[in-house]
Amino acid sequence: MWSPFGGVRSPFAAYCLLAFFIVTGPARADCPSNPDALGTSRTIAVDPSEHPFLGAFQYRESLPLNDREVVLTFDDGPLPPYTNRVLDVLAAECVKATFFIVGRMAHAYPQLVKRVHHEGHTLANHSQNHPFTFHKMPIEPARQEIEDGFASIRAALGDAEGSGVTRFFRIPGLLRQDAVEEYLSARGYMTWSVDVLADDWRRIRADEVVHRALNRLESRGKGILLLHDIRRATVLALPTLLRELKERGFKIVHVVEASSELPKTQTQPEQWAVRRSERAAIARLWPSADIATHLLPEPVLPAPDASNFRYWRLGGKPRRAERVLHGPGRKEARTASSRRSSAHGRHGPSVTSSSFRSKAHASSTGTRAERSQPTPIWLGAGRP
Ligand SMILES: [Zn+2]
Repeated sequence: MWSPFGGVRSPFAAYCLLAFFIVTGPARADCPSNPDALGTSRTIAVDPSEHPFLGAFQYRESLPLNDREVVLTFDDGPLPPYTNRVLDVLAAECVKATFFIVGRMAHAYPQLVKRVHHEGHTLANHSQNHPFTFHKMPIEPARQEIEDGFASIRAALGDAEGSGVTRFFRIPGLLRQDAVEEYLSARGYMTWSVDVLADDWRRIRADEVVHRALNRLESRGKGILLLHDIRRATVLALPTLLRELKERGFKIVHVVEASSELPKTQTQPEQWAVRRSERAAIARLWPSADIATHLLPEPVLPAPDASNFRYWRLGGKPRRAERVLHGPGRKEARTASSRRSSAHGRHGPSVTSSSFRSKAHASSTGTRAERSQPTPIWLGAGRP
């Protein structure tokens, strides 16, 4: 089938993957910096054209996972400092994930897109602007959103052939419609829905994100877990969530796109099939017509507030949550803090949502060019 990226990954990437399997074997976590790490138990390569729609929530197929296997997915980023911290935590646990990138965010933070790629995670597309209207959008603007999203990720990577970007796509808000799905499958894209939700786009605390993710994974036994790397609660929840997954015997599976250098993982059709009973249960709970209003109500989260971006509380020690979120970089923290103090007085600025957003990005990580980028409008609206 036609591939927008030529269907060829770089020989270097293929060599690295081959070396990984030869050196470590697919079933053993290799994490020299953390012998007790959760690790990535295996990598599976999938052919999008053979399985164009994934996720028990909306489709008849999902990934061919064994019992107690989990695939981590992060949507809506990248956004500093959240995505940076998510990547730090994943690196500490030697866990690989799939990042569904928003094109506008890739344009604003290309260095973070590069980091996701260089650290071996899978890059996927979550549309250019994350419109919450995919279920009722005419096909032409939908096509534009999809293709612009891929183009923005490729541009952020400086990767004209797109060999670093998979053909994986997740519809914003999971707001599917037949015409869009037909377009996606005709283009050879793999549309990802989800198996397990952690509700981390809602106004819930980090411990509740952990609780819901674990309870639902225990209940289903395996699956694609949806998280958001732009959410404070998600970042705070992630270390505990990964530790608990390890304690409970869950394994992390990394998903990549098959290519001529990396043949697809051999599977049987029944491994992809979602049980009829599960589909019936989901249909009762979430009638497809109601997904927009029940599954992902809008707006469900506020824009990040000023504390999300603070490296240090002015005039005091950081709270534990802030240390977890921002890490122990004291020198960097003091620099950021003093910058704000000199600009806004001893006690910091009087924060409004609009004035905050430009300040927040000025004090967050990233290159000078990235810091000058505006906050995407859709993020300001607090949509998932
Ligand atoms: Zn999203």
